[in-house]
Amino acid sequence: MKAPPFAYVRARSLAGVFDLLEQHGERAKLLAGGQSLIAALNMRLSAPELLIDITRLAELGGIQLRDGLVRIGALTTHAEIERSAEIRKHLPLLAQAAPHIAHAAIRNAGTFGGSIALADPAAEWPACCVALDAQFVLACRAGTRRVAARAFFKGLYATALNPQEVLTQIEIPVPGPEYRSAFVELALRRGDYAIAGLAAVARNTRGALSDLRLAFLGVGAAPALARGAMAAMEGKRASPDAIAAATQALAKDLDPGPDLYSSAATKMQLARVLTGRALAALAA
Ligand code: FAD
Repeated sequence: MKAPPFAYVRARSLAGVFDLLEQHGERAKLLAGGQSLIAALNMRLSAPELLIDITRLAELGGIQLRDGLVRIGALTTHAEIERSAEIRKHLPLLAQAAPHIAHAAIRNAGTFGGSIALADPAAEWPACCVALDAQFVLACRAGTRRVAARAFFKGLYATALNPQEVLTQIEIPVPGPEYRSAFVELALRRGDYAIAGLAAVARNTRGALSDLRLAFLGVGAAPALARGAMAAMEGKRASPDAIAAATQALAKDLDPGPDLYSSAATKMQLARVLTGRALAALAA
């Protein structure tokens, strides 16, 4: 199919984007990497009257470390994150997750901010941001606000972004030297969206895990923090008994629905398997 007709503007400044968003509201769409939006237009799942191309806004790019925070511009591509030495050193979870996103050609164009704004339930970045306690910087004509990743994802493709706002930057605190991370995922084929995945971070003190964050993708409408499993593992080593207690707790933490290929029961079983793998990796 072909996209319905739309007008196109290449934005030259963020202020210009704010003006257009005020004029057109929900009838306008921002175009970042286009890897989800163009497909949605071609399938006529979306029919905006205006596409605002933000790809030339240099202020939305870049990866910087300052004051214990890694600041990632919304237009930073998946591939830039995958290749960044700063990210590998300070936020290894993102480096571990990046190769699971689609294929190289899509990672070269798709953006960190686009993935977060889209909020696909099976996407890797939203769950990583929840696990890493990220904050999202949302800007509009009236000013800027910060929203914690844990409060940002509201449901299926639903976020705290309002139609006048642009996600400009993602701020992620650098975990301390004792912290470990693990990203594990199961998909039908390499490069497919996950059936289930898990972004995991914890402090490892001589093998005992604390301050655990287990954020699942693909097992609900939005990233899901497994609070019961996190509590069950607090202060423990990854012994078979502790892992069994954590995986049992998942029954209360998660409520996966089926997708096109997998039943809810399959997803629950995969979540248990991924939890065992992630906890073992965090404790190693
Ligand atoms: P776009 O497609 O340009 O935009 C997506 C949406 O976000 C639009 O509504 C747009 O208006 C909005 N938006 C974009 N940027 C901003 C911003 N800064 N502020 C506010 N709103 C904004 N993704 C995964 O996570 N995992 C996968 O395994 C995966 N597999 C894929 C396989 C294929 C074949 C394809 C085509 C895509 C796949 N994707 C996958 C999606 C890909 O990662 C996209 O890059 C990503 O979802 C959207 O980023 P984008 O920059 O392309 O955004």
